[in-house]
Amino acid sequence: MAKLIRGKVIIITGASSGIGRSTALALGREHAKLVLVARRENRLKELEKEIGGDTLLLTLDLREKGQVEQMIRSTVEQYGRIDVLINNAGFGFLGSVENTPPSVVREIFDLNFDAPLIASQLAIPIMRAQGGGHIINVSSVVGKRGLPLSGIYCATKFALNGISESLRVELKGSNIDVSIINPAATQTEFGDHVRYGDVKTRFKSLGRIQSAEEVAAAIVRCIRNPKVEVYPYGVSRFLTWANAIAPSLVDKIMIRFFDDRVKAISAAHK
Ligand code: NAP
Repeated sequence: MAKLIRGKVIIITGASSGIGRSTALALGREHAKLVLVARRENRLKELEKEIGGDTLLLTLDLREKGQVEQMIRSTVEQYGRIDVLINNAGFGFLGSVENTPPSVVREIFDLNFDAPLIASQLAIPIMRAQGGGHIINVSSVVGKRGLPLSGIYCATKFALNGISESLRVELKGSNIDVSIINPAATQTEFGDHVRYGDVKTRFKSLGRIQSAEEVAAAIVRCIRNPKVEVYPYGVSRFLTWANAIAPSLVDKIMIRFFDDRVKAISAAHK
């Protein structure tokens, strides 16, 4: 039976733009109690007005462990429970694996991997005590197959998928679902906030660009009927399958498709 969303306490990290914002609007229409988390307070306030429902705004920088802890603490203080934790905040990085400094690796892992991990570790005992819950990790199709010049970003998503799969089994029998959302290229502010390493160019995306609303609709469906993995753009599932069966063939396709990235790597080393 489909789960009800009305009245559920749902944390959404990265709610100030893109997928998080669209998800908040969609869940607001379903009358959820929303905890909206991001750094840009003005954006959160605008969103709160647009939703017009029961919301808690938390202006936090989730790269900081203490602020992730504050997110969970403030949610429980306000609502006394956490039904759904949507770990969505993230940023991208473009640069060769060879030349990415450790400080950048640390920073992107802090947000894209450590924050969801810490939030989940803190939310699970609360979910156990209340009799169930749902953790939704917004990963990516590039958490299934590495792309050139996105290796460190891809690694954060592979890591997120790894703990999600482990948790799914560890939490069997606890009535806590764990879902991975794997969007393909999505029209959001993601490209504006990508950080650059040893290359400075914007590159083409792989396949069709979906809307943030399409991804949000897939997340809402996943809350109603929890799924292990969701590909909002179904065709992108083929990349995962092809890579599992014939990774060297996918390498060849990547070299052709991402010729702009391959050329940029060569240029950086001339
Ligand atoms: P976006 O529009 O740039 O949204 C990113 C969100 O993360 C913003 O709300 C941003 O808010 C928040 N954020 C960034 N740094 C933060 C920090 N230090 N602390 C707290 N919040 C922070 O990008 P998006 O595409 O919606 O990205 C959402 C998720 O989808 C990410 O995990 C991304 O990896 C994943 N994804 C995106 C695509 C795509 O093509 N767009 C594809 C696959 C997966 P503030 O700046 O206000 O803090």
